[in-house]
Amino acid sequence: MSYRAILFDVGGALDLEFAWESAVDGAIAAACGLEGIRVDQTMVEEASDAAVAAFAPDAYAHMIETLCGGDPLSIARVRGRMRAMVGNLDVFQLRPGIDGLLQRWRARGLVLGVVDPAHHGPRLERAGIAALFTREVDGLPASACLFVGDRLDADIAPARAKGMTTIQFRSGRWRRQRPRNAAETPDAVVTDVPELEAAIEALIANTSS
Ligand SMILES: [Mg+2]
Repeated sequence: MSYRAILFDVGGALDLEFAWESAVDGAIAAACGLEGIRVDQTMVEEASDAAVAAFAPDAYAHMIETLCGGDPLSIARVRGRMRAMVGNLDVFQLRPGIDGLLQRWRARGLVLGVVDPAHHGPRLERAGIAALFTREVDGLPASACLFVGDRLDADIAPARAKGMTTIQFRSGRWRRQRPRNAAETPDAVVTDVPELEAAIEALIANTSS
């Protein structure tokens, strides 16, 4: 079947998540400090890499456990403080160049959708790109959908399981994540917007020929 739609994980594909991840790292370090646990930037980065390497479903919880040395009381308090610090933070940084690419795809009739539109709608609205996405994608067979996401465990594996063709956008906290098995292995890997465009063009050309 030829592809008719592209479905996006918002965080990590459309959104750089750089400001959000920096804020989370800073909040975790500050919360540890308030509990008398001194952590520096390097320790936070190492804890982040360890959480990604462990495929921790909740990377932030895993980071806090690492930094608190497993002490349950400190872990609970740091988690609470971290949530209080970033709970109301809403930073959305559209990936540079992605809006132009989305417009080109729309112009040639591809259907665009996002995972969890109810949750992400307001952000897409503020970024001025909400009108590019529809829920039409929900009615299409999975085999007609390309999926773009940054996490292998949380994004790529479930999309693959549904029968979608998947593209890993290596970016941000999960950029070093590598597949553990075939179920987590994407059909293509990209690291920037031009690579994403080329990968999708190649996949479309392959099925329509
Ligand atoms: Mg993501």
